[in-house]
Amino acid sequence: MSDRIVLLGTGTCQLQPRRIASSVLIEVGDLRVLFDLGRGVADRLAARGLRQDDIEHVILSHFHPDHLSDLVPYLHAASHSRIDPRSRDLHLYGPPGLTLRVQGILDAFGAPSLVPEEGFELHLHELAEGKHRIGPMDFTFCELPPAGNQGVRFTWEGTTVALTGDSEFHPQELAFLRGVDLAVVDAGHPTESELVELAIRTRIPRIICTHLYGELDGEVLNARASREGYGGELVVGEDGFEFSLEDASSTTPSNGSVR
Ligand SMILES: [Zn+2]
Repeated sequence: MSDRIVLLGTGTCQLQPRRIASSVLIEVGDLRVLFDLGRGVADRLAARGLRQDDIEHVILSHFHPDHLSDLVPYLHAASHSRIDPRSRDLHLYGPPGLTLRVQGILDAFGAPSLVPEEGFELHLHELAEGKHRIGPMDFTFCELPPAGNQGVRFTWEGTTVALTGDSEFHPQELAFLRGVDLAVVDAGHPTESELVELAIRTRIPRIICTHLYGELDGEVLNARASREGYGGELVVGEDGFEFSLEDASSTTPSNGSVR
């Protein structure tokens, strides 16, 4: 596996075939972690040739439907698919309240339709802020406004990556992003001015904009950020973009963003 992050989706609750709900696939060493599982993500995983057993760890940033609704088709397929049944356990990580939410989903559909009595187990990990181990790696979870939402940071061979789920422009977000080499940020809730300010104040070499409610003009955005003193690059995310973690700090647009 190459060490990279993949934007599976860059959209929101808006029904846009071009942008499924925002989700990021982290692939480092032998570890695969999925960050958010909203509309369209289960099919996107299958389209990439990823089988159920290829994903053992899923982080849910919060409990809005556009970040977790595909948990239902994903678990249904895990339990009942004849072409790709799951045999490995699935670990779900999320903010406090995870167990209650997932239990509600299981109750709504009937637990056996989503998690079989035999085959695999679903493990729920409600995580408070702080460091938690997923597989062989430490991830740092941090609450970010709006309430109930968590961002995640991890460091892989000297490169620190941050992912926000939903996030308003806020001092907590700036603190969370400080010292990061590569950030995938909610660019749908902040205004363009706030994105530019975020770039200037965090000085992250590469900021990937996702969770897009409207289209951003990357050239205009970068020209403005550069005029105001930002030396890095803001990348307007598209579904399918991939970023190698080896050159994560590079500001050359052709490096890393490959559709
Ligand atoms: Zn959202």
